[in-house]
Amino acid sequence: MSHYDVAVIGLGIVGANAVYATARAGARVLAIDAGLPGAGTSGTSFAWLNSVRKEPEAYHRLNVAGMSAHRDLARDLGDDGAHHFGGSLEWADAGDGERELRARVERLAGWGYAAEFISRERAAAMEPGLEFPGHVREVAFFGADGWLDAPGLIRRLLSAAASKHGAEVRERAPVRSFRACGDRIEGLVTDGGETVAESVLVCVGPATQAFLEPLRAMVPVGRAPGLLAVTSPPGAKLDRVVHAPGIHLRPDAGGGLLLGTEDVDKLAVSAGASANLPELAAILLERAGRVFSGARGVKVVDSRIGVRPMPADGHTIAGRIPGYANAWVLATHSGVTLGALLGRLIADEIVRGASSPMLAPFRPDRFVA
Ligand SMILES: Cc1cc2nc3c(=O)[nH]c(=O)nc-3n(C[C@H](O)[C@H](O)[C@H](O)COP(=O)(O)OP(=O)(O)OC[C@H]3O[C@@H](n4cnc5c(N)ncnc54)[C@H](O)[C@@H]3O)c2cc1C
Repeated sequence: MSHYDVAVIGLGIVGANAVYATARAGARVLAIDAGLPGAGTSGTSFAWLNSVRKEPEAYHRLNVAGMSAHRDLARDLGDDGAHHFGGSLEWADAGDGERELRARVERLAGWGYAAEFISRERAAAMEPGLEFPGHVREVAFFGADGWLDAPGLIRRLLSAAASKHGAEVRERAPVRSFRACGDRIEGLVTDGGETVAESVLVCVGPATQAFLEPLRAMVPVGRAPGLLAVTSPPGAKLDRVVHAPGIHLRPDAGGGLLLGTEDVDKLAVSAGASANLPELAAILLERAGRVFSGARGVKVVDSRIGVRPMPADGHTIAGRIPGYANAWVLATHSGVTLGALLGRLIADEIVRGASSPMLAPFRPDRFVA
């Protein structure tokens, strides 16, 4: 029977980063996924690297550290082709929307975040295809933001973990159950038999709560669906993430645009299984065309629902699974922004025994009565 130092279950953006970091730290790692790595939520994510609406301050700081960890990772991997920095632009409706945006930019700048207002002329020079409504004299610019080709980075991380650091990657191998003894997980049961690892890290995204139930571990993670539409290549260039009232858009890794927005997510959720995705995607496309000339005349080539892992209090869950000495869990919304950081911090904890004070507010035992 094979024996590993660390088994990482779930190879989305969170698990793939953890595999890379633990293998790089010298552990003998088994990386295992029920399907294809990156085909879960991470493959259907807007993947905006940001900390623009992350409250309270401790969670904001965690996301800012997540953004820096991505810059470190991009340097470490060399030209990975997956990281796209360049900032994001946002404007709001007149009235309450604009007041909220002004207050937010001021608060973020006060926290040291790259947040400022720039003239509409400067914003138009950065993104010539954007069309701002008449009331918009200034546009918010968040200069350190970016976006990620998450499936591309997952492939890159797993390949580097395997080729440079000896990790073993198993695809299409669902973990069916655990063999637990006292406060230890002794084995992982898959269709191919049992695997033994000294430490186990669970990164199964929206499946977390159901996956851990047999261990009687209270890790409350809900499921929050969202719709994204991908278009054919636009008629004008778009270089960065844009948030306008009723629509957000960015370049897609395949050359088109990626579109989404919260109120259309809600329509998709309330319609459930009978949601008409092409109809909802057409709403996104029509709204994109109102703010970006390049979106007019393009077609929707794909529309997909992704399911956000949503911890009960909205914030990251990172640390030892309550009741188990050798098992950890990572489950989070904003996992694209946070994946590189969480992977690195949890590797330090599992492999080196070093626990980061940054994770103190985000431990799983906060849910234990
Ligand atoms: C519409 C939408 C927009 C979003 N926008 C952003 C954004 O702009 N910025 C941002 O930072 N975040 C965003 N998010 C959130 C972010 O995408 C997620 O937090 C992140 O992708 C979660 O990654 P993960 O690795 O935890 O989960 P996943 O990517 O779902 O990976 C979990 C993996 O676990 C595997 N698995 C499950 N069960 C088992 C099992 N029994 N055995 C083995 N493997 C198993 C699955 O096959 C899957 O590959 C968005 C999400 C959605 C849906």
